Amino acid sequence: MRALTHNPEETEAAGRQLASTLGPGSVVCLYGGLGAGKTVFVKGMASALGIDPIDVISASFTIIAEYDSSPPLYHMDLYRLEKGEDLEALGLYDYMDGEGITVIEWADRLPAVETEGALRVQINLVSEDTREIIIDVDE
Ligand code: ADP
Ligand code: MG
Repeated sequence: MRALTHNPEETEAAGRQLASTLGPGSVVCLYGGLGAGKTVFVKGMASALGIDPIDVISASFTIIAEYDSSPPLYHMDLYRLEKGEDLEALGLYDYMDGEGITVIEWADRLPAVETEGALRVQINLVSEDTREIIIDVDE
């Protein structure tokens, strides 16, 4: 699926729409540079699960934010991941294998084998307010 959005609200709506189709155990990998709109997209996903989007912030400093929705939402931001960091020890894979919905910003920091089968959301900056969103399955 490919769509253009023209403001943050439309990107948030795209996230909301995607999340409404997801069941427990889903993994969504987000790709796109700084300011692409990844966190905006996650806000939309969160709102579909009944979480106040205001509570969704850049998870950079915590790496994983866990929301007590049903199913739970696990929001990861791997931007500040150190090279050689032990991903296993951080518990990332336990979340991804769990019963919640996992959404990962900067998922390109993960080994490719770990994102196989996940939904891939690529957000491209087209102009100041326009974004291209491409959603497919990583296979
Ligand atoms: P990322 O998490 O990818 O680094 P953010 O979601 O934090 O990016 O920020 C995206 C920024 O781009 C926000 O300041 C938002 O207001 C702005 N923006 C402008 N147009 C759009 C759009 N169409 N979709 C998403 N964000 C947009
Ligand atoms: Mg972000």
